[in-house]
Amino acid sequence: MKPEGSHFSPTWNSALKTILVYGGMALLFTLLGILLGPPGALIGGTRPVNTIPTHLGELAGFGLLLGLGIFAIFGKKGLPLVFLTPALTVLLDIDHLPIYLGIAEPVRPAHSLVFIIAALAASAIIVKALNVELVVASAFMGHLAVDTGIFPPFSPLNLEYIPLDTYRLPLAAGAILTAFIAGVILRRQSRRADHG
Ligand SMILES: [Zn+2]
Repeated sequence: MKPEGSHFSPTWNSALKTILVYGGMALLFTLLGILLGPPGALIGGTRPVNTIPTHLGELAGFGLLLGLGIFAIFGKKGLPLVFLTPALTVLLDIDHLPIYLGIAEPVRPAHSLVFIIAALAASAIIVKALNVELVVASAFMGHLAVDTGIFPPFSPLNLEYIPLDTYRLPLAAGAILTAFIAGVILRRQSRRADHG
């Protein structure tokens, strides 16, 4: 039996594990943001509730396009990634949860470079699949490309905010490129496996 790291096709099991790892890390960063954030960084506001479904729809839509891109390059064995990519793209916003529970928190505590490095490391240790690493990176960049406003790039170590807008286009390009690379690598590995 092959170790999970050498899977030539993504599995539903690794997709589910990745969702749990990514969501768990996002909640951990949310908690750390609340614990480590100076009082000035904690706010209680939310975006207008009627705009939330539209925003989540945009996130899921871009994530789905990324997943379908992988599917188009790799083929039907990539089906778990068609679900995994939009799921992760939307899941990052779980870091808004405390506000909806009435708890003040920093703005977007998991929308951070520190978070994505930690999430990539955690999924590398737990899921051990290159395609998953690429999808995690792609979904994260895809999420930030759809968001507007400010984010704390070094949360929870430093809760200074910078505007997202100038980075949105490069982030969208990075998300698409990473998904493309995931599709190409999977396709090559799979062909090599088919030909022995
Ligand atoms: Zn967001």
